[in-house]
Amino acid sequence: MATRAPYLSKSRLISAWQCPKKLHLEKHFPELGDVSAQTESLFESGHRVGAVAQALYGTADSVEVAFDFKTMLAETQALIERGADLPIFEASFRYEGVLVRVDVMLPDADGWRVIEVKSSTSVKDYHVLDCAIQDWVLRNSGINVTSISLAHINNQFVYLGDNNYEGLLLENDLTDDVRRLEPRVVELLAKARAAVTGPILEVNVGAQCNSPYECQFIGHCWPGDTRYPITGLGGSKAKLGNFVALGYHDILDVDESCLTSATQQRIYRVTCKGEPEILDGAHQALTALPYPRYYLDFETIGPVVPIWKGTRPFQAIPVQWSVHIEDEGSLRHEEFLDLSGEPPMRALAERLIAVLGDRGPVLMYTNYELQVINNLIEMFDDLADSLRAIVARLFDLHPVVKDNYYHPDMLGSWSIKAVLPCIAPQLSYAALDGIKEGTAASEGFLEAIGPGVDVARKAELRGQLLRYCKFDTEAMVAIVRFFS
Ligand code: SF4
Repeated sequence: MATRAPYLSKSRLISAWQCPKKLHLEKHFPELGDVSAQTESLFESGHRVGAVAQALYGTADSVEVAFDFKTMLAETQALIERGADLPIFEASFRYEGVLVRVDVMLPDADGWRVIEVKSSTSVKDYHVLDCAIQDWVLRNSGINVTSISLAHINNQFVYLGDNNYEGLLLENDLTDDVRRLEPRVVELLAKARAAVTGPILEVNVGAQCNSPYECQFIGHCWPGDTRYPITGLGGSKAKLGNFVALGYHDILDVDESCLTSATQQRIYRVTCKGEPEILDGAHQALTALPYPRYYLDFETIGPVVPIWKGTRPFQAIPVQWSVHIEDEGSLRHEEFLDLSGEPPMRALAERLIAVLGDRGPVLMYTNYELQVINNLIEMFDDLADSLRAIVARLFDLHPVVKDNYYHPDMLGSWSIKAVLPCIAPQLSYAALDGIKEGTAASEGFLEAIGPGVDVARKAELRGQLLRYCKFDTEAMVAIVRFFS
């Protein structure tokens, strides 16, 4: 009996292009994958951009085909057969077992203008392949595709309010590039079918694990059942993949002569020694800081679809801060968080200026706080002088720690989350309730100001956001005290 070819969605074909093993695992062992908060946030952004695209391209009589495997193909076919002359969103087609949903189809002379919508800010190679799969399925299903374009985010767009997103999307006509790729689609389909129906392929880990998408099977494929996993050496995934292929799973397995970067050599040396390296520079730099000392941390949102007037897509907009103020023998805390849903930036900047006063170093961990304050300077001319005075007092702890400290358990990272457990094991991000990292904080803020949130959930999110941001500045205080 002949075996039917398996159905494959367009995203499954893109998975096969990234790595055939990824597709095999998605199909047969999805439970081995681990979808990160960042990936979930990207999906959410995609939905928001899709809704804007429908508003921009839609008309009073446009149709969205509902996502229902039982009906979506028939519903699309009925629309096409009755000669529908209106925009169709999420039209669904299948050819040779490949199922696609089309973001936007617009009637165009005797055919259809097809538009794929992406939440990135430029056209990438894999977007052309994505459109080529779409075009191949549609044309082989009898659709006259007059052109196929990719609409991506215009990062210079400034939202002027009133739900007017005209100009948010930039269209690129990819028709010629797409048609040239057609033979690749047929090859890719054969590769994808083999990956799905055949035994699991032994693919060495490497650069493909993070490109174009972070693979959800990294935890499964990369060596992790060892004290100091090789990924802790840092550097390019391609080079680390070569180490794995040589049988190096743990940093301690590595042949030192293979290490060319000074950072990797340092990580290797300290890991082999088995005890932290602490140089004098941190003590000298940090004890020299005068009082009062201010420890500052912002939380930001960067929505792909701007929500407040005057803001751009992906702009880092501060919505919350925490400041610990240390004087000789005393430590107190101030914070800002506004969940009213109104733009909080002005009040946030004014309160920050008042709390930070006019003297004393303002400590940050990495220069993200500098970027955020520069954004505030751009927004509020009349506050610019006061904000520039804060910029002049900023002191970045990160390079001081990086130059002077490494503990084998940091596994190649000098992020605050990697350093803290080594210098203050009693403080733990993992023990925080709910929000434990930046993406979750950003999503939590957006949920808390959203229209559907109930009072209890909003209160819960408020507590988690305040605790998380406060914890970041507590961690900075602990780091300074450790080195002092
Ligand atoms: S982690 Fe890398 S090797 Fe494993 S499935 Fe994903 S892309 Fe392929």
